[in-house]
Amino acid sequence: MILDKFSLKGKVAIVTGASRGIGRGIAVGLAEAGAQIVGVATRKMEETKAQVEGVGADFLGIEADLSSLDPIEEIISRTLEKFGHIDILVNNAGIIRRQPSLEFSLENWDQVININLRTAFFLAQAVARQFVKQGAGGKIINIASMLSFQGGILVPSYTASKSALAGVTKTMANEWAKYNINVNAIAPGYIATDNTAPLREDPDRNRSILERIPAGRWGSPDDLKGAAVFLASAAADYLHGHILAVDGGWLAR
Ligand code: NAP
Repeated sequence: MILDKFSLKGKVAIVTGASRGIGRGIAVGLAEAGAQIVGVATRKMEETKAQVEGVGADFLGIEADLSSLDPIEEIISRTLEKFGHIDILVNNAGIIRRQPSLEFSLENWDQVININLRTAFFLAQAVARQFVKQGAGGKIINIASMLSFQGGILVPSYTASKSALAGVTKTMANEWAKYNINVNAIAPGYIATDNTAPLREDPDRNRSILERIPAGRWGSPDDLKGAAVFLASAAADYLHGHILAVDGGWLAR
């Protein structure tokens, strides 16, 4: 039956950036659908652990700084040690740096590209190698952005990272579909998290953003749960290389 295909019972999902915001929302959503969760962030994830365990799933927290590739091996080995297999990766950890392009610093360029793109790709590669070894396919969901489609203002490294992430989502999808690995992305619209707090605090930016959203409100991390569960599930077995906008209609304007 079709609803059974959305179940993630028995699956193990790694969610990066699970301490707060969209990552926490997605981790809890996948847990509600039946998955066991491995959360990765630089800090302890007590609130996420409590919410995941509150819906009856196991939670393993791994504290790691994803600005370098060093933690990748440990993320894979500790997940396998605890759960024995990996079925889903959500590449969600991400940062943004705002500075006019005329003054934009090399540091703000490298920090954003390293976490949002470089680590996301190489973690996906490591997880995909594990999927191939396991022989049963798997799901990779990259968290893209409206700035995978648009230029944005004051955020050149972020736009570069998210446009490139959407691009390599398709490359990975093309190469790994033959292993029954589905690589897709979710492009959230304007979601109320720490990442977007400066926009909501600026009355002019806040008003102009809200005026353009047909749904008439900022999104919440809960708004991403449905798309994440879908793309992580067998219901999405024939989806490859898709960038799914969950944006209150922003791109339709
Ligand atoms: P957020 O509230 O700022 O959360 C960012 C998450 O990434 C946190 O869990 C953070 O962990 C983790 N993270 C950041 N740097 C890290 C590092 N060096 N190593 C490990 N983890 C790190 O942001 P958010 O809005 O939920 O964003 C989540 C993702 O969605 C990002 O990729 C973002 O670009 C994307 N996105 C957001 C929006 C939006 O409107 N909010 C729209 C489109 C796309 P710590 O708590 O340990 O710092």
